[in-house]
Amino acid sequence: MLKQDLHIHTTYSMNDGAVVPEQTIALVAAVKHARIVGISDHFENLANGQFQGYSNEVRKAGLKLGVEIDGHAWVNEATRYDVDYFIYHCRNQDDDYFALEKLLATNRPVIIAHPNALDTDLNRIPTECLIEINNRYIWRSDWEKFYRPFKDKFRFVLGSDAHQPNWLGQTVALYAASQLGVEEYLVF
Ligand SMILES: [Zn+2]
Ligand SMILES: [Zn+2]
Repeated sequence: MLKQDLHIHTTYSMNDGAVVPEQTIALVAAVKHARIVGISDHFENLANGQFQGYSNEVRKAGLKLGVEIDGHAWVNEATRYDVDYFIYHCRNQDDDYFALEKLLATNRPVIIAHPNALDTDLNRIPTECLIEINNRYIWRSDWEKFYRPFKDKFRFVLGSDAHQPNWLGQTVALYAASQLGVEEYLVF
């Protein structure tokens, strides 16, 4: 089991073409691939009246409640919602860096989403922020070069950014096997 995964999308990210209908909160909760699990659907898909149902469902499943915010334009509104943490797209522009102060002022954890994929300048990120190492994007970049200079400056969070059950790792197969009462045969 993984230690923690706070970056997970579900069918509430309804405009995200990578999400499949099977990726429900109930399934993520049932698979329980990590000790600490949080759901972080796109805030722009929740702000139009979907948030309450989302919040109820995540809480009922016993998971942490997050949202993924797409830049500064959504920050004022997002801070008014009762979530446990924020995941934030910080593109390399002044307004995105400035808006971080408002998120930090809520005293809730702020995770900088896949900075290597958004060209975020980590020199401009306050050290109170948590930096994500994102399973979906990390391997597509020169992560060694991008992250190493900041290794001792920040605290890091690992996230799957799962949009489909299999992105949660082999734990889905493990879950199905355990539901079936199948014990895995070890070949070697
Ligand atoms: Zn993202
Ligand atoms: Zn995401």
